[in-house]
Amino acid sequence: MSSQPYAEIGHYITRIDTAMMREGLAACYLLQGGDECAIIETGTHNTVPIILALLAQRGIERGQVKFVIPTHVHLDHAGGVGGLMQALPEATLLVHPRGARHMIDPSKLKAGATAVYGEEAFAKVYGDIIPVDAQRVREMHDGDHVLVGDRRLDFYDTPGHARHHFCVYDSLSAGIFTGDTFGLAYPPLTTEKGPFILPTTTPVQFDPQALKASIRKLLALNPERMFLTHYGAMDAPREPGERLLAMVDDYVALAEKAAPGDEATLLQRLESAMQDYLFAKARDHGVTLSEDELQEALGFDINLNSQGLLVWLQQQQG
Ligand SMILES: [Zn+2]
Repeated sequence: MSSQPYAEIGHYITRIDTAMMREGLAACYLLQGGDECAIIETGTHNTVPIILALLAQRGIERGQVKFVIPTHVHLDHAGGVGGLMQALPEATLLVHPRGARHMIDPSKLKAGATAVYGEEAFAKVYGDIIPVDAQRVREMHDGDHVLVGDRRLDFYDTPGHARHHFCVYDSLSAGIFTGDTFGLAYPPLTTEKGPFILPTTTPVQFDPQALKASIRKLLALNPERMFLTHYGAMDAPREPGERLLAMVDDYVALAEKAAPGDEATLLQRLESAMQDYLFAKARDHGVTLSEDELQEALGFDINLNSQGLLVWLQQQQG
């Protein structure tokens, strides 16, 4: 675990490193409103003790946590939900209507993740997934809201990365917890041109038109900042958002260009096109990391994005 897993980022929000795979890959957040708290994103099952240790360190009783809020049910966001709900007796799970049943019975999630990552990596990275009692689950629809103390959280349906994805607008920070809808931006890739943002197309529900509509929907709320799961707070999100929209189109073009040819080597072609594209974009953006460092920073996403585009291409062919 990192020596600094917790960072106070203002507005009574603490960024927590989930310790998934490496430091700085995936975050979750503790949000405080008066005597009440919410946990937004949970990381994996292995993140649960890190979150509980923060509560203890802050003198927050476990019963003060009112809500656990994964933006969608991919396991870097929701893998810790079951374990966390067991430890937080008063918490209600707020989840997208399309994700709820997978939190109550996670067997399909587990099978899906094992298919993408392989058995061994699944066990190491995700640990376990524990079911949640259906009575503690509340489905949040587009336009619904809750209060955490006196801060209001508004929920917006944002398909495109996944159909079970919502984003959460926080009144106090005028910020949005964006999950994976507003892409990825790893701090080591930030330059004087701003954050290096990129779309994420994790299998199996990438939908470019829906994703672009969701990004526009978030920008239309005029947020002052975004809180990305991968990774951290981003101020002045409009300009990065415009770049992100253009990159969704670039991904689609890249996939369509790679598609013709031998089916057996298509994933490899997608990976190599994705790597060339993202590395060139990073250089354009003024990123001065070495090839190896770029590979270290983006290799995992290059592989995931390529797998997602492969599935999307297959779906296009019907
Ligand atoms: Zn994610």
